[in-house]
Amino acid sequence: MKYSKRDIELARAIPIEEVLRLEGYQINKGFLKCPSPEHNEKTASCHIHKRYNNCKCFGCGRKFNTVDIIQIAEGLSFPDAIKRLSEIGGFQTEGEEEEEIPYVLPTRKELELVGIIAGPVYAAVNVSDTKPDSMNMPGNDGEYVILKNADYNPFAELAKDPEVMYMLIRGKAYEKYTRISRIIEEIRNDERYEYLLDIMSADKEEIINELLSLQKELKAIIKRFKGKPRAAA
Ligand SMILES: [Zn+2]
Repeated sequence: MKYSKRDIELARAIPIEEVLRLEGYQINKGFLKCPSPEHNEKTASCHIHKRYNNCKCFGCGRKFNTVDIIQIAEGLSFPDAIKRLSEIGGFQTEGEEEEEIPYVLPTRKELELVGIIAGPVYAAVNVSDTKPDSMNMPGNDGEYVILKNADYNPFAELAKDPEVMYMLIRGKAYEKYTRISRIIEEIRNDERYEYLLDIMSADKEEIINELLSLQKELKAIIKRFKGKPRAAA
């Protein structure tokens, strides 16, 4: 696999916090446990430096950038880590024609999970006192809003461009993944949640596990929609 200087720069520019979260590192107030396999620590003494987009361990002194993190977490070579980061960051590495893969459309479940609406667009055209027999939805004061199919399906338009579609799905899945990571961190570390969970008589670990399995599904989606899809025939 070939890569250029520009590719390395782009790979190193992806926010380290996002990469750490994607790899399952727990971050608490900017600290995490040292990613070095040689440094097995109990307390988190590796600190994130947003300015340099890296993290540094106060215990062993080692610094880690996004490429280091991916290499350690996924056991990849340097070139493969650049490739992996290009997928995460949604950029194409230079000097290599990406292998074309068959274009598969996402399932409804996958679309729902990443938050893309696949149906046609309906426009409100009128209101009625009586229940219409076709498209309708309840409005205010017992009125019904008459909807008309606007003959436009943004998803169908999007599906015509496989590359854009894949990028969008990956981007959305990635976005949701990191958002869930933040929620998990908050539930774990913010005491106000204890109170809230108590009121709801909800089990903290159960909720966290649920969120983790959601992340697993999102990670699978990111993996499924990587690469360059062949244009639809
Ligand atoms: Zn260390």
